Amino acid sequence: MKQSLDQILTAKENRFVLRQKIASENKTSLSFTLNIAGFPKSNELITTFFNTILSELKIFLLANRIIIIDKNEINIIDKAGNFYLTKINNKNISEKEIKIITENFETTHKLGRLIDIDITDNKGNPVSSGKEKNCYYCGKFPAIVCMRNKSHSYNELRNFIFNEIENYLSIKKKEKIIKKLSSIGLKALLYEVSLTPKPGLVDFNNSGSHSDMNYFTFLDSSSALAPFFRELVHKGYNFSNPELSHALPIIRNIGLQMEIEMFAATNKINTQKGLIFLLGINLFASGYYFSKDELFNIEKYREIIKDICKDITKIELKNIENPKTHGEICFQKYGFAGARSEAEKGFPSVFESSLKILENNLPSIELASKEKISMALQKTLVKLISINNDTNILYRKNLKILKKLQSLSKDVLNCNDFENSYFKIADFCRENNISPGGSADLLAITVYIYFIKAN
Ligand SMILES: [Zn+2]
Repeated sequence: MKQSLDQILTAKENRFVLRQKIASENKTSLSFTLNIAGFPKSNELITTFFNTILSELKIFLLANRIIIIDKNEINIIDKAGNFYLTKINNKNISEKEIKIITENFETTHKLGRLIDIDITDNKGNPVSSGKEKNCYYCGKFPAIVCMRNKSHSYNELRNFIFNEIENYLSIKKKEKIIKKLSSIGLKALLYEVSLTPKPGLVDFNNSGSHSDMNYFTFLDSSSALAPFFRELVHKGYNFSNPELSHALPIIRNIGLQMEIEMFAATNKINTQKGLIFLLGINLFASGYYFSKDELFNIEKYREIIKDICKDITKIELKNIENPKTHGEICFQKYGFAGARSEAEKGFPSVFESSLKILENNLPSIELASKEKISMALQKTLVKLISINNDTNILYRKNLKILKKLQSLSKDVLNCNDFENSYFKIADFCRENNISPGGSADLLAITVYIYFIKAN
């Protein structure tokens, strides 16, 4: 213990020397340390926490126009713990003001009582605001009083600190995953909507077989849906019921609110109802997945989807007396369960077919040209059209037309001149006034999974 204390004192003396060196260059310095009781002052967890807070602090300083001179910035671990020191350019701001701003960082931060930011002026003197910090453990008395009175044992303090840090880091991690997944959700949707040309579907230049909507209608509805993505991922992340089928009403509940917003944004036009269901399940399932696992495993992920959608066809489509929705009508007439069947089986069209096509044609998204991305997405879409029993087509037409479209798409995919024969599918859709909307939804899901895997 005695040796440790000596080592801490030596480390603190070194820090003092470093600060004085900056002052001797007539510069102000800022240092950041953590208030860790007992010994050792640093470990892996503390260092992760320290670096997390340091990145937050740097953004905060920049936002407040406090400019770090990052040449020669110091970030070390010594016996006194983690230590960061930098020169700051204070031409436009007084040292007192800097102190007030950094104190604001401490007081508004959730774990601010663990954080110490010190400012040393260009004469080498500490800049003080005269405010006393309260003890981070009890919060009742100034820290210095609890320390002097030895009010709390080192064990108590350290357990408390480590607990707080772990909680903080896990919330940070969760927040990062939720942001990432909801952003990929929006990306998937935008990639699908923007792909031009698309047979029978709305794209940037054409409205396909839809006289009542255009590209902007899709932007309107996409924007109305996007704010719900976060909530879906969040609910998935927090879901703790071992019975995953109980998740479906939660997803549906958000999905129904999304439908209301979609219809409000599009003047009552159904642009993305199918997508809301399919993407909703995937946003939720991926949130759930990444709350437990870091690496993406397709089989594990598909099991989650299957569990969420267990028996959905049986429950929702069989024994319906008066079918009303497109899905219900198609199931009664043809026995195809459309999107529900895909979901129930863990998206076989995506995981067993279309994802491979997309990955083979787009091994990396980085530096890929617009043409390359478009071509990869078109091939993926054609693959989906060739295998999907799309209820959008069955509802508008019949099984014969669907089979013809599927076989034409197979031919296009297998021929040597994809680029030119691709247009034959658009011609066919135009002649028959059909739109492979279900396949477009699955394209968005394929893109969603593609980017989850790539991240
Ligand atoms: Zn206390």
